[in-house]
Amino acid sequence: MAGRPYTYLNVMIKKFIRKILGVNNKDAAATKNKPKVLAAKEHGIDPKLVSNNAIRVTQTLQENGYKAFIVGGAVRDLLLGVKPKDFDVATNATPEQVKRLFRRAFLIGRRFQIVHVMFGQDLIEVTTFRGAAKNDAPKDEHGRVLRDNTFGEQHEDAVRRDFTINAMYYDPASQTVLDYHGGIADIRKKVLRVIGVPEQRYREDPVRMLRVVRFAAKLQFSIDADTREPIKVMAPLINNVPSARVFDEMLKLLMSGQAMACLLQLRKQGLHHGLMPLLDVVLEQPMGERFVTLALANTDERVQQGKTVSPGFLFASLLWHQVLEKWEAYKTAGELAIPALHLAADDVLSAQTEALALQRKIGSDMRDIWAMQPRFEKRVGKAPYKLLENNRLRAGYDFLLLRCASGEIDSEIGEWWTSFIEGDEAERAYLLTVKPKTKKSNSTEAEAAPAKKRRPRRSPNRKTKPAAE
Ligand code: ATP
Ligand code: MG
Repeated sequence: MAGRPYTYLNVMIKKFIRKILGVNNKDAAATKNKPKVLAAKEHGIDPKLVSNNAIRVTQTLQENGYKAFIVGGAVRDLLLGVKPKDFDVATNATPEQVKRLFRRAFLIGRRFQIVHVMFGQDLIEVTTFRGAAKNDAPKDEHGRVLRDNTFGEQHEDAVRRDFTINAMYYDPASQTVLDYHGGIADIRKKVLRVIGVPEQRYREDPVRMLRVVRFAAKLQFSIDADTREPIKVMAPLINNVPSARVFDEMLKLLMSGQAMACLLQLRKQGLHHGLMPLLDVVLEQPMGERFVTLALANTDERVQQGKTVSPGFLFASLLWHQVLEKWEAYKTAGELAIPALHLAADDVLSAQTEALALQRKIGSDMRDIWAMQPRFEKRVGKAPYKLLENNRLRAGYDFLLLRCASGEIDSEIGEWWTSFIEGDEAERAYLLTVKPKTKKSNSTEAEAAPAKKRRPRRSPNRKTKPAAE
């Protein structure tokens, strides 16, 4: 009891001091310009986890008189003992100077150019140190910085990064880590902390709030109270961010290998509500929750095993129960099953395309997966063979299995297709003679092939002429 007012007072004093330091304490600024330098035995990075290509890039730049470091997420992951999925390099060389040093180097982006240095399929992204954020940089009416692309010193580059743990630089040559904002301490404490004043950083770029959620869930870090607190209030600012950027960040979140944890964290921080229609749907629809939970568990497992995940499959799963609902409504209104499904898909896709800037390719993959579903129910004649030729069969079939696992449809249909896909000619022909014992769900079977037209059951040993392929 007695501790409470004291803690509150403490927080207020800390906030007050931070405010003063942030505005006019030159000494504090000066110490921030000097990083803490950690030697190999202090930081313990395993050099074997460092990409040879990243080393080639830093070495070449350094040999030509420039500063060059591995930076950002890669350093964070190295410090956590995790093999980074990609390596970024920061340098004081300009993009043009970088480009001249490498055979396969490409300038990307118009406003703030970065250089992609390629080694086979491997890509190292090289950025020039960015300068201090300018007060007169153009902003939108909510304070979001629209453009601020000046080059600068390394300490200025560090201050512009989002979290303390993302603002460290590693020099593979000397094996030293430069830590400008207490990132090492936060890594050890497993704390995610925004650099600077969180309110201000979220206002400049509201996507940082989504990044808080992603990193906290992915790294299983706690969120520092000052970093966490403003999010609930500032969440609606995400609405003003161009949807393509929100989509990119959402995709990173969903493909982080901790998608479910990320979505739960989004809900906890109040970031899902009314912001992204997709998430409203996903998290507030009890019927679809089981389906989505399975889909995300599946995705997380694939990512953790280093397998690829298709964004189309992922979004098709997230939105399936919305499609089902609308599909039902169109059928109730008198539409035939197949056109009703297409109308439902149109509705869901157009709503999401607007809100999330779903890329055309992803949208068409989603439609293919959904449209294939009723076709799995036609288990007579040539139809199943036709489906085998479909080059999206795998995605459609995996989706079918999810529907079975979630209890939406009888698992018998999934098992039938597993046998049909894996079977040889004779097995397939036999399967076509087996009368399905599935319960009707969203079945289009009656419409596609009335049961009475079904062939009589035959013995598996009897020689059957395989249905035409
Ligand atoms: P991941 O492992 O998921 O790629 P990452 O930290 O490398 O994590 P990126 O999105 O690749 O994340 O960004 C690279 C670095 O750029 C970050 O570590 C951070 O320093 C900086 N950064 C990225 N986005 C922002 C942002 N919105 N605001 C400030 N700094 C950012
Ligand atoms: Mg990265």
